Amino acid sequence: MKYDRSAELFSESQKVLVGGVNSPVRAFRSVGGTPVFIQSAAGSKLRDVDGNEYIDCIGSWGPMILGHAHPDVTAAVQAAVGLGVGFGTCAEVEQKLAREVIARVPSVEKIRFVNSGTEATMSAIRLARGVTGRAKAIKFAGCYHGHGDLFLIKAGSGALTFGAPDSAGVTPGTAADTLIAEFNDLESVRRLFTENADQIAAVIVEPVAGNMGVVPPAEGFLEGLRDLCDGAGALLVFDEVMTGFRVAKGCAQQRYGVTPDITCFGKIVGGGMPVGAYGASAKIMYHLSPLGPVYQAGTLSGNPPSMAAGFATLRLLDDVLYEKLEAKCERLAAALAEDAKDAGVETCINRVGSMLTVFFTGGPVASFTDAQKTDTERFGRFFHLMLEQGVFLPPSAFEAWFISAAHTEEDINRIIDAAKVAFKA
Ligand code: PLP
Repeated sequence: MKYDRSAELFSESQKVLVGGVNSPVRAFRSVGGTPVFIQSAAGSKLRDVDGNEYIDCIGSWGPMILGHAHPDVTAAVQAAVGLGVGFGTCAEVEQKLAREVIARVPSVEKIRFVNSGTEATMSAIRLARGVTGRAKAIKFAGCYHGHGDLFLIKAGSGALTFGAPDSAGVTPGTAADTLIAEFNDLESVRRLFTENADQIAAVIVEPVAGNMGVVPPAEGFLEGLRDLCDGAGALLVFDEVMTGFRVAKGCAQQRYGVTPDITCFGKIVGGGMPVGAYGASAKIMYHLSPLGPVYQAGTLSGNPPSMAAGFATLRLLDDVLYEKLEAKCERLAAALAEDAKDAGVETCINRVGSMLTVFFTGGPVASFTDAQKTDTERFGRFFHLMLEQGVFLPPSAFEAWFISAAHTEEDINRIIDAAKVAFKA
């Protein structure tokens, strides 16, 4: 394949955008090579500026569960835009989307829409602090909750107890209020609760980790978090920005039967438009302004075309769609494992619903420590060989591949065939 126009555009974009991109992973730094510039997308396919076509396994990092440019979503956005892009005041479509979410997620009685997953998680922790009157939050190493200061924290040296800034510009003061535990390790959470008795406002977790590659919760892990939070008077926050409406119609909390206090949404809830949201019981949400003392606002929050995209998307997500997605992705994961075995390559393929990751390590991969054993150099080669064969994977070894309802059985076969070649090389 030729990428001449992409290369030209990347060279130009570096003159005006930092690293040529607006979000770091797009720069291809972890797989090498030049980022591909996309011209258009439809269904399961991306078309780049050089005319190359790809089967898309990024799905805009999750939102595109219906595939790209679904006619209903496009029509809904076009109709909304025709009425004016935004008003900065109330519009009916906001409550329409709210009702769709609330109908699917029983733990959510009231919801607040924001503009990104980052805003949703930052605001959820502020709300938890406001409700409990406590300052500290526990997060898990390898879970990503957006780029809010309180989440850009890594485990400090020595013990897991004290967080340290994981980005320049994050203050030690902020880091001190974020405690880091190990995903799928209840003991690490219990220890933090003991050492910080009556100080923990919230535990925030991706119920299926997706940002260290896909790592499902071990049996009993989410239930254990629920119990620990209840015992300590802390709130359990599920960051379902990625898993929400992806792993089940009622999100991960339905799939695993564990009810959080606060849920964060993003990605699918906006149908591909910039939307985030957080919701909880009315009792918790009443702490939020204008009713309560926890302040949070947004000029573009509830933006009508974005709400319309989310509404059109959620309405199409029925049980049949999830059943078909599950079957399609089960077949894909099994065939990829077979391909890898035939090629003599050690892999561990983790899949939950239509999110999956091929780890280039023997596995099992049940923790961040396990995930870090993946051979990133090998993934880089695999990524480029797949791209050359017209399959666009996320350009990082620690990401989820997202499969959509628009991927046909033929698309799945093409991914499997491409992987057969890429594993052998
Ligand atoms: N939480 C999770 C689980 C995510 O995967 C992401 C983004 O990938 C975020 C939060 C942040 O969302 P956004 O990029 O919309 O700010």
